[in-house]
Amino acid sequence: MPELPEVESLAGFLRERAVGRTVLAVDVVAIQALKTFDPPVSALGGLTVTGVSRHGKFLDLDCDGLHLVFHLARAGWLRWRDDLSGAKPVRPGKGPLAARVRLAPDEEGLAPGFELTEAGTQKRLALYVVRDPAEVPGVASLGPDPLADSFTADALKRIVGGNRTQIKGLLRDQKVIAGIGNAYSDEVLHAARMSPFKIASTLTDAQIADLHEAIVETLREAVERAHGLAAKDLKAEKKSGLRVHNRTGQPCDVCGDTIREVSFADSSLQYCPTCQTGGKPLADRRLSRLLK
Ligand SMILES: [Zn+2]
Repeated sequence: MPELPEVESLAGFLRERAVGRTVLAVDVVAIQALKTFDPPVSALGGLTVTGVSRHGKFLDLDCDGLHLVFHLARAGWLRWRDDLSGAKPVRPGKGPLAARVRLAPDEEGLAPGFELTEAGTQKRLALYVVRDPAEVPGVASLGPDPLADSFTADALKRIVGGNRTQIKGLLRDQKVIAGIGNAYSDEVLHAARMSPFKIASTLTDAQIADLHEAIVETLREAVERAHGLAAKDLKAEKKSGLRVHNRTGQPCDVCGDTIREVSFADSSLQYCPTCQTGGKPLADRRLSRLLK
């Protein structure tokens, strides 16, 4: 799933290529992905792309004041196409294509654009056409952006204070902090040398300062690595930059201990016992059940 660094990079990628161009049409293939009906998608046709921005993990294509906002969800992706003029008309079906944004042809007759795709059977990719991005419920409820100047250690202290949830879940909660998902919360906690199960409200001031530094540093580094990359290269870059996430069984590159995982119904987390839990493996109920 694309998280803050990848979405930030996609926004920059789209900004470079799409701003100043006219939208020819937006073809929605996966009808269930479109969450709004007024204004209609057809209202985007003929408008000029004036800006591209990111809100948490949402991308926002500003077309002369009308916004096409989308969230790629767990299995969605964006594919830039240099020329869509020969592309086959899209028909609703079972394929991964969810929507196609076609831009007007340039002087050379190339009509570029991009496609939003979603793999798998669980369709969660979401598209909105709104006059104000804040009309999108998931955008309106976003917590502070961790890359904003206002996200200080004090701001984080206010967030964790009195919060009785586990820090891993808190970091992933978009209403608490915007843009961090399953992968970067694993990375942040590894960098902060903190157990994912630690209860937020029990953090000391020093731990909050460490966690703050880990959040900002981890995301900034990932944004820098992803900067300027083509959309198609982002996934590989994200994967190569991760130190614990999805690396179960491999050695931790900080201490050499074996990276372990805890599985849940529909996700898993990875961590290094030596770096994060005093060398003790965390209980994995699924695994202990299998071992009985
Ligand atoms: Zn380690």
